[in-house]
This record gives sequence, structure tokens and C-alpha cells, in this order.
Amino acid sequence: MAPPRKLHIKSYGCQMNVYDAQRMVDVLTPEGFVETASVDDADLVILNTCHIREKASEKVYSELGRLRLARDEAAQSGRRMQIAVAGCVAQAEGEEIVRRAPVVDVVVGPQSYHHLPQLLARADAQGRALETEFPVEDKFGFLPQPRPEMIRARGVSAFVTVQEGCDKFCTFCVVPYTRGAEVSRPVAAIITDVERLAANGVREITLIGQNVNAYHGEGADGRVWTLGRLLQRLAAVPGIARLRYSTSHPNDVDDDLIAAHRDLPELMPFVHLPVQSGSDRILAAMNRKHSAADYRRVIDRFRAVQPQIAFSSDFIVGFPGETDTDFAATLALVTQIGYAGAYSFKYSPRPGTPAAEMPEMVPAAVMDERLERLQQLIDRQQSAFNKAAIGQTVDVLFERAGRKPGQIVGRTAYLQPAHVFPGPGLEPDALVGQILPVRIDSLERYSLLGELAATPPQHARPLAATGA
Ligand code: SAM
Ligand code: SF4
Repeated sequence: MAPPRKLHIKSYGCQMNVYDAQRMVDVLTPEGFVETASVDDADLVILNTCHIREKASEKVYSELGRLRLARDEAAQSGRRMQIAVAGCVAQAEGEEIVRRAPVVDVVVGPQSYHHLPQLLARADAQGRALETEFPVEDKFGFLPQPRPEMIRARGVSAFVTVQEGCDKFCTFCVVPYTRGAEVSRPVAAIITDVERLAANGVREITLIGQNVNAYHGEGADGRVWTLGRLLQRLAAVPGIARLRYSTSHPNDVDDDLIAAHRDLPELMPFVHLPVQSGSDRILAAMNRKHSAADYRRVIDRFRAVQPQIAFSSDFIVGFPGETDTDFAATLALVTQIGYAGAYSFKYSPRPGTPAAEMPEMVPAAVMDERLERLQQLIDRQQSAFNKAAIGQTVDVLFERAGRKPGQIVGRTAYLQPAHVFPGPGLEPDALVGQILPVRIDSLERYSLLGELAATPPQHARPLAATGA
């Protein structure tokens, strides 16, 4: 039997890429690959890339420069290292990648990575292989299910892609070009995935998609199901205790989704709902097709059915033409909503998008100053939100042993990391996968520190031995 070949995947960018990287491992495991944490002993290195901002894209080329050296070193010791570029840079730049970095053997877009074994074989035979078409077949139909030991190794919280691509065409964004048109997976396929994950110890599922609440998959009844309906069905899967979804668009929040937040205790009261800007003029130029007031109304609908709900968002500062007044409107919106956290970015022109052609670029120094002010405001809100947990007893899903001996780490409903020392006689590993009440005593940066507020049940067992 040939010795296993070693695979190293480096992923950049969004949750979708984290998920895709895992599925690439699932595709390559039956081909005799095992994962390695080190580039230096890898036989195959895959860079799973992100094209969302210029900085993210350019990182790929500097990494390829380093890989050329690693590959030369491997060759000196008689070992061959193959290099593949996957993800959205692969999709957007295709042949340009091998022109700039001839060290690359395989270029594969996000809709084609189920073909990796064939592409590696083709690169072996012909020196190079590229595939950046959107194939007619659905890659999910070809992806092997992860092995049970793989699911257990990945932990108690898992991502499941339910929707891909985007038809919204915000003027700044490359996603509709790199990930293609919106496609939803059928309900039955998602249920199969979730049941398999749950049977192997997964307690929390995050449904992911570029525009996840535009989900419109086919149900077993032949009807189109909404995200709300899908969540309702998945809440009934034995073993699944927590459900989340990301990333949502304000315009696709429908009554089913609101009802799911009203009715499902499994659906966590924490929603990532990007707004990008608080200025109606800028929102129109971004082609967001909603105003700041529309966004506030959506937030109010969630709050009306679930008073515990908290929100996070994405913001872009320095979109072309953004004035001081526009930026003040963003600060005002953030102040009104009150976020538990948010990501904020400086606008980065992306080739081929309408905004890249817009005049009136905001000067870099102005962008820096606005980003700083916005981040300070969001930071203050996040700190206040975290501080409010002190003195409270909150449910924590324990994920893994902590860095300190005897410590265990989990997450609250709001994804805040929580650190606990369960005390003598309780092995941290035995608590992994359990949701237990924790009394929060203090804060350490963004983490909550506390003590178990209840004795764990006697049947506490390590994850590897857990059924559902
Ligand atoms: N689909 C999601 C949405 O509609 O909000 C997220 C898409 S994107 C992967 C994540 C975030 O990157 C966006 O919400 C936006 O804030 C940011 N982003 C996208 N294009 C950008 C650009 N050209 N420059 C700066 N930030 C950008
Ligand atoms: Fe990009 Fe807009 Fe689609 Fe989000 S909704 S992926 S920002 S085009």
C-alpha cells in the first residue's frame, strides 16, 4: 500500500471558505491524503483564497512566493510538492494566476473542487490543470460525506452550506462574479447532512450561504421552502441543540424567519445582519435596495418577537462619494441600533464591479480616520454588551479543553467565548458537547470568565463516545 500523501490547506476569508476547505479534505481523503499542519512536509498545498478586498487577493501572491521556496527545498530532498489555488481568486483570475506564479499546478474555482482528484491527475500528466467554469452539475451531489472520525475531530459546532452565490449585485462586491448566481440545496440533502453530523456528536449547526436568507430550496413536498421553514425542520433533528445562520440580507427577512425566532428555542438570538452604511444616498449608490429606515424596521420586527436578540453587522467606510454627512449617518445608525459587535472595512475597489468605475474616491487618510472612529464606537458597544453578562447565569456550549490545565472553553448564545474551571473531579474533556449554565464573574478582553452554576449530569461522556 502506498504511504499516505500529506495535504496542507490554508484558507482565507469567510465561513464559506472554512466549510469548503473541510469538504476538500473529504474529497481527498479517499484518494489517500491525510492532513498536515506544516507546509514543509506537504505533498499537496491548497490555498483556498478570498477575493473580497484587494489585500486578501494580494496575500495569495506573497504566499505563492514562499511556497516556491518550500517546493524547491522539497525537490532538493527528492520530494514533489504540488500547489493548487482554489476559492474566489482562482475563479476571478484563472490563467492570470499561473502567468504571475508559474509554480501553481492546479487552479480550481469554488464550484468545481469536487473535481480535485481529476485535476491533480491532469496536472501530473500535462503539467498543469485549470477549471474555473461553473459546471452544470451540482458539486454537492459529488462530495463524499465526511467520515465519522473526521466529524468528531472537527468539534461540536459545524457549518452546513445551504445556499451559494448571490443575485444582489451590490456595486462594490465581487461575490456575484466569483460565486455565481444564487442556488439553494434541496431540503432532503441538508437534513441528511445535519442528521449525520448530529449522530457524530455535533450539537450546533450554522447554516451558511452568501445570502443565506434568500434560501429557496426544494422540499420533499415539491414546494419551495424558506429558511424559516428549514430551520423549523432542523430544530427537530435529535441531538441538535443550537441553530444559527449567516449571512443575511435585510431585504430577504420574511415572516417565516421572524416566526422561527419567535418559536424555536434552538434558534440562537444572535443575527449577523449587514447594513454597510447608514446613509440612504450611499445605500442607493451601493445598490442595496433598502434605506436606513427599512433596516431599522427589520431590526424592530426581530426585536418584537425575541426581546433577547442581539445583532452584528458589516460596514464599509469610504465608499466613493461618501461625505462627512454620510458617515455621520452611519455613526447615528450604529448608535440607534446598539450592536453586540460588527466588522468594518475600508472600501476596496474590485476590478469589474460598478463601484470601481465611480469617481470621487475618498482619500486614504479620511478613510483611516472614519474607520478608526467607527471601530471605536463599535468596540464601546461590544464592551458594554459583554459587561452586561457579568453577574448573569448564561448557557454555554462547551467546545474544547482550554489552554490552561483544568480549563474548558465554550460559547454563549451570542458567540462570546466563555472560560470555566469546572473544578476537581470533572475532566474538561467530559464536558465537551454539553450545554451548561455558567455564572459569569468577570471579563478578560472579549472572553467571559465564570463558574458552573449547576452540576453536570452523571452521564457526562467525552465527545468521541457520544451518540446523538
Ligand atoms: N453577503 C453578505 C452581505 O450582503 O452582507 C456578505 C458579503 S462579503 C463576503 C462580507 C463583507 O465584506 C460585506 O458585508 C462587506 O462589508 C465587505 N465587502 C465586500 N466587498 C467589499 C469591498 N469592495 N471593499 C470593502 N469591503 C467589502
Ligand atoms: Fe455581495 Fe451584496 Fe451579494 Fe452580499 S448581498 S454577497 S455584499 S452582492
